[in-house]
Amino acid sequence: MKMSKMYIRTLREVPAEAELPSHVLMLRSGMIRKIVSGVYGYMPLGKRVLNKVENIVREEMDAAGGQEILMSAIQPAELWVESGRWGAYGPEMWRVKDRNSREFCLGPTHEEIFTDIIRNEVSSYRQLPVNLYQIQTKYRDEARPRFGLMRSREFIMKDAYSFDRDQEGLDASYQNMYDTYTRIFNRCGLKFAPVEADTGAIGGSDSHEFTAFAENGESQIVYCEKCNMAATDERAECVDAPASDAAMLAAETVHTPGTKTIEEVANFLGLEKSQTIKALLYETLDDDYNVNGYVAAFVRGDREVNEIKIINLLGIPEHALVMANEEKMAEVTGCVGGFTGPVGLKNCKIIVDSEIPGLRNLCAGANQVDHHTLNLNYGRDFEADIVANIKMIAEGDPCPVCGAPVKFTRGIEVGQVFKLGTKYSEAMGATYKDENMKDQVMVMGCYGIGVSRTMAAIVEQYHDDNGIVWPIPVAPYHVTVTVVKAKDADQMALAEKIEAELSAKGIEVVVDDRDERPGVKFKDADLIGFPVRIVVGKKAAEGIVEYKLRTGGDAEEVTAEEAVSRASELILTALNAHK
Ligand code: ATP
Ligand code: MG
Repeated sequence: MKMSKMYIRTLREVPAEAELPSHVLMLRSGMIRKIVSGVYGYMPLGKRVLNKVENIVREEMDAAGGQEILMSAIQPAELWVESGRWGAYGPEMWRVKDRNSREFCLGPTHEEIFTDIIRNEVSSYRQLPVNLYQIQTKYRDEARPRFGLMRSREFIMKDAYSFDRDQEGLDASYQNMYDTYTRIFNRCGLKFAPVEADTGAIGGSDSHEFTAFAENGESQIVYCEKCNMAATDERAECVDAPASDAAMLAAETVHTPGTKTIEEVANFLGLEKSQTIKALLYETLDDDYNVNGYVAAFVRGDREVNEIKIINLLGIPEHALVMANEEKMAEVTGCVGGFTGPVGLKNCKIIVDSEIPGLRNLCAGANQVDHHTLNLNYGRDFEADIVANIKMIAEGDPCPVCGAPVKFTRGIEVGQVFKLGTKYSEAMGATYKDENMKDQVMVMGCYGIGVSRTMAAIVEQYHDDNGIVWPIPVAPYHVTVTVVKAKDADQMALAEKIEAELSAKGIEVVVDDRDERPGVKFKDADLIGFPVRIVVGKKAAEGIVEYKLRTGGDAEEVTAEEAVSRASELILTALNAHK
């Protein structure tokens, strides 16, 4: 392919709205174009990368026994009403009406559609198990679309759904997908780890997220070097502090003017933060986003609250728990912003973290402006509607499995696998007849990969100051042959010979024959990130070229034959790795 004929437009300047390297570099290299906030188009080079990621996903899914289908993005509301998610999905769902006011959504995910297909077409145990997948555009009206392809409102997902006869079958299907994901992300060149994850609104029991390591990632991962535990911070349990056997002292309310934060009150009273109780105030919302209740959550003053644990305890969707409007909540519950404690609250659900009942003589807000109460003890002074572990694990806390101090790292969730169980099959009546002609509910799993997000994750891991450094299996082209002077007949002839020889081996080559200064061509080659650069210049007539890898090292003068054989060996080996 001749670069002079290609539709490529690279940018010198950094687009203002882009923060992450992946976003900046994909815009600058002309791979993607922003259409509107959170919505992107793929330009020729970007589309080639996307195709490569898709094809890796497709090959591995097919090899694992998955069968590809393609469903509509438009989904009728009725199916979501049946599963109970039409109301519960919340504001991320992109809802549309047709001309007759019939309601639809642009699919954020496809459990309902796949379950509907299977329940209508599978009736016997002989037809199970089934694993169907698609690579398709998803829509989620994200509250904060950002980071380009990383968190967009329209994105490409591979979603697969497995249907089994029983739990054992699901366990096998899940393991199969888990192993397949490992192969997929290895082939994409990612450095990643599967970590235990919360199942959240989608329901079900076990789940793992596949997380690509990246300092800019939105996921916080907790891991233990001793026992290899790894989980998202939302999923990890934070171990309770040991119970205290100190004697209970008399409770006493004291004047603590202007001490609204834990820090301030602890300093003012000369306490450790761990001797105080922190209050977090929430309101819960119904399906129409009206406030339908209040929650006051209490954790030890030096802890944070893990909101996902509260959401799961209450059995509500994620968007249904929001920070309270404190003034309104005060009217109903008697809380006082900055001075809220667990004693004397009314009309709200009180959730107390599991370690608090074991601690003694804690200080909390007195539900009175500028006052706190000292020496509060659970059971004697206050009680809760729910006592449960709602605290967020922190770096250095004991590992919930083995007790060694845990470490934190950041990552990008590129995929997630779930054991759904019978949540959807039961709600939607996806049953089959077993050997005894008895009706049984199918047991489901679902498995997603953010194909477009994976592209961004790869760039996060593979770039330098000059641009992208694509791993060979996902590079838009493998080799660029830079012709220093395209008008020079010897140079063009040698470049075309190299192009033909490499192409014959299945290697993808661009010839940069543009009428540009060599410096411009080199800059673009680095920005776009072709893995191998072969420069054809002054010594073309002698058959000598320069050979350089995008990953680093100096340019070497070699014969054209040598350049071809080195490049092909390197590329073919990389393409076959992890297969
Ligand atoms: P997140 O927690 O990042 O919002 P999720 O857990 O809601 O993602 P899933 O429902 O598990 O996402 O979707 C499967 C995969 O789709 C995710 O693992 C992720 O790679 C990708 N994905 C989800 N939301 C987006 C988005 N807004 N933009 C791009 N990719 C996304
Ligand atoms: Mg997920």
